[in-house]
Amino acid sequence: MSNLTVELTAPNGTKYSQPIGLFINNEWVPGTKGDKITSINPTDESEIASVHAAEPEDVDKAVAAARAAFKGPWRDMATSERGDLMMNLVQLIQKNRELLATIETWDNGKPYSVSLNEDLNEVTNTLKYYAGWADKIQGQVIDTSPAKLAYTIREPIGVCGQIIPWNYPLAMAAWKLGPAIATGNTVVLKAAEQTPLSILVFANLVKEAGFPPGVINILNGRGKVAGAAMALHPGIDKIAFTGSTATGKEIMKMAALTMKNITLETGGKSPLLVFDDADLEQAVKWSHLGIMSNQGQICTATSRILVQEGIYDKFIEAFKKCILETSKVGDPFKDDTYQGPQVTKAQYERVLSYVEAGKKDGATLAMGGEAYKDVGGKGFFVSPTVFTNVTDSMRIFREEVFGPFVVVVSFKTEEEALALANDTTYGLGSAVFTKDVVRAHRIARKIEAGMVWINSSQDCDYRIPFGGVKQSGIGRELGEAGLDAYTNKKAVHVNLGTWL
Ligand code: ADP
Repeated sequence: MSNLTVELTAPNGTKYSQPIGLFINNEWVPGTKGDKITSINPTDESEIASVHAAEPEDVDKAVAAARAAFKGPWRDMATSERGDLMMNLVQLIQKNRELLATIETWDNGKPYSVSLNEDLNEVTNTLKYYAGWADKIQGQVIDTSPAKLAYTIREPIGVCGQIIPWNYPLAMAAWKLGPAIATGNTVVLKAAEQTPLSILVFANLVKEAGFPPGVINILNGRGKVAGAAMALHPGIDKIAFTGSTATGKEIMKMAALTMKNITLETGGKSPLLVFDDADLEQAVKWSHLGIMSNQGQICTATSRILVQEGIYDKFIEAFKKCILETSKVGDPFKDDTYQGPQVTKAQYERVLSYVEAGKKDGATLAMGGEAYKDVGGKGFFVSPTVFTNVTDSMRIFREEVFGPFVVVVSFKTEEEALALANDTTYGLGSAVFTKDVVRAHRIARKIEAGMVWINSSQDCDYRIPFGGVKQSGIGRELGEAGLDAYTNKKAVHVNLGTWL
């Protein structure tokens, strides 16, 4: 056990015990082959810790534990008892929120104030919301004739494999665990290689909260090894995934072999439309938040800003000013930092490669577009980047960059704005700024996206469904819709009078 924990001191002085093993059946176990994943601090490129990486054999063990828990105590537990366990977990997370936020910031690079006030609130709010649902999962009685009683039972799907991304490690885990656990499923959850640490501390809280062994199993592991083993596993009934569209397609193919239920939340290139009649100051501020928060590493980031020609120049000027005033790049543990480093060297290089693509295709680099080296000379920092004079054939208009990187394009008419907005293989978020309430709702209907924000961007809520259309995903998370993703409706027919 002791060699499955390391003592760490975070950059803000927090000392804690970091588990590094695999969490299976409420126990810490080593990986079978000794493969390790090393977590790098994106702020100064130092190594934080190495954790055990699961092999397919380890996934087998986790699935067996989850199956036993499903058949054993969990599926048939009184629903209010399940809710109580979830509330115990919420309270423990609240008690440990500074520690969890510290680890999230150290490992991911997001500002500490964001980890603490946004991500950790998202985690507790989501789990609390689904804890409340646990004893309110109901079927229906369906009237056909007096000779038949027909009713439905909402049953858990079974053992769910959940594959998590690195941009909101704990929040994405909560989005998936909340509805799965509330509805009586058991889980094998795999964190992303880039951010393996916070979820292991979370795992200790799962045990402390009193969950029976095997209900929530947490692994680190490589996508192509442990992730693929989960997608292929015959003992897993459902895969829920958040990540890139390319990986989502791979998972869908693998899951097809055993016809697993799937939920996929993938990439986006979400448009934000600003009309001449918009409140310009509000449009600028929300546009900034919509692409520059969380280092631009948000799947719903409104990364294509479309501005009507009458206010285009004014918008650009005000937008650049807003970036200069707000997007303070720096050490994520400093209070005044708005933007920390990109999560990894690979992401940092990816963003910079799109700067080159934009220049090569003839767009105008209006701001940023370079590595930011003023934070101790190290780390994966990128200056907030704005391109103008962008056309719809350019890669920077079409491809997801996933960084503090935005293109601003002008349009003349509503029709043109909609055509540009929908000219994408993605369909995740979208936003429209106008004071014309009729136009706002007309656009909300016509835009091809899972979510539309009218006069805001990114203000998602755990009570409201989240998900994409087109190549941005399949299925919904959050809200009541999130429960559908984790239940099957069984129909029971009772013969009350059709006698043969
Ligand atoms: P990114 O490209 O931003 O790193 P990915 O979509 O590749 O994002 O990763 C998101 C999650 O999917 C991670 O947990 C990762 O380990 C996992 N993953 C990556 N490749 C695969 C795969 N082939 N099969 C299953 N899971 C995978």
